[in-house]
Amino acid sequence: MITVMKFGGTSVGSAEALKRVANIVANTEGDRVVVVSAMSGITNFLVSVVENPLTDPDGVIQQFSDKHLLTASQLFGGETMDEFRAEFDARLEAFRKALLADREDPYYKDAVVSQGERFSSLLLAFVLRDQGLKSVAITSEDAGIIAVGRPGNGSADLLNTATGMTMKVRPLLSMGVIPIITGFYGTGSDKKPITFGRGGSDYSAAVVANAIDADMLEIWTDVDGFMSADPRIIPDAKKIPEMNFGEAAELAYFGAKVLHPRTIEPVRLKHIPLKVKNSFRPEEPGTLIHHLRKSTSEMLRSVAAKTDLSIITISSAEIAYRPAMVARIIDKIADINVIIYSISTSLSTVAFLVHNNDVKQTLRQLNGLSGGDIERIDVKNDVALICAVGDNLLDKCGVSGDIFGAVKEANANVEMISEGASDVSLNFVVPMSRVIDVVKALHDRFIGGQR
Ligand code: ASP
Ligand code: MG
Repeated sequence: MITVMKFGGTSVGSAEALKRVANIVANTEGDRVVVVSAMSGITNFLVSVVENPLTDPDGVIQQFSDKHLLTASQLFGGETMDEFRAEFDARLEAFRKALLADREDPYYKDAVVSQGERFSSLLLAFVLRDQGLKSVAITSEDAGIIAVGRPGNGSADLLNTATGMTMKVRPLLSMGVIPIITGFYGTGSDKKPITFGRGGSDYSAAVVANAIDADMLEIWTDVDGFMSADPRIIPDAKKIPEMNFGEAAELAYFGAKVLHPRTIEPVRLKHIPLKVKNSFRPEEPGTLIHHLRKSTSEMLRSVAAKTDLSIITISSAEIAYRPAMVARIIDKIADINVIIYSISTSLSTVAFLVHNNDVKQTLRQLNGLSGGDIERIDVKNDVALICAVGDNLLDKCGVSGDIFGAVKEANANVEMISEGASDVSLNFVVPMSRVIDVVKALHDRFIGGQR
């Protein structure tokens, strides 16, 4: 039995938190592979370092080093500390090199912002050792996690990662060693780090689980798992004990910040169940995500909302008959890496849902489209996407009618709908001013009274 356990930034954010994590790892049976994020606050610090002129590299190194050494001193001393210092100093030297490297190198940022994980993993490995367990900290490059794609936005090469991990990580398990692997990045063919995007350690852990054929992936975070709604909006939101992969993927993508949306795919591919657990309250059951087939009586499992979005509507005569034109528009938007949350078309319009912050850049890009093909572009700011999730939602007769009935009762106008694209979610757009009422109405009617 192999369990891959991932601990997020707050879970490794202090000496106390690290001790809690060490206990959780120690109390887990079978082979364990651990993946960690940087200590909370560290990645943000590093991002600000790469985004501003580097006036005081020594100060940066000092601040970074102090934080980790102080934590270490609160955790262990004596021989453990001596051994820790040896590895720490080597890693700090590597950090200094990365920091002082050529800032014009397209991989510079990734090399610097991925440093935090190298130190949190070291801390955890030594806490475990101090408790008498066998543990080593290994970097993504040494573990064989191969990344492809652009800097800041990489993906794992699952096949080659599996080969690398089989050679480099499996032998450790057979010796009873617990490897602590850096999350957040892999390395490309030239050994340069490529990060998986902010919050990407969850994805790293799923990649590791896939590569090593784990029996279970546990994502340890600071909440009790998925909820039926955001508890800040719905105080009596319910915990969700079980979900299938599709539901979790939609929810993670469209609202709930419990899990990085890309975490699902690598484990789904190999049917590896995933558990979301709270490292501050390990006794909580959390949410189990797997190939749940059993249909439940409730119509909805959860209602999430993604706020601060805009609809950009492009009008052009008979655009529906000119698919090449639509393709060109999408290409243009894709070129600037803007995420399109939803698309809908009619005979003479195509509408895109993007984040408020991406509107200006998108409009600039669309203005570059050649010819007089576009008649008009309209923007509607400040809308929210509601994502109603339930397994086999669309198989149940009349569900959308009931859902939109509830939306109408909340006095909201539906601005855009995407139905049928996924069989576990019904997504639609309402004005920001109505979002809380809509979530409440749906929750009250379809979830609240039922459990
Ligand atoms: N430390 C990285 C970040 O803050 C990755 C992660 O936490 O998942 O984005
Ligand atoms: Mg996270």
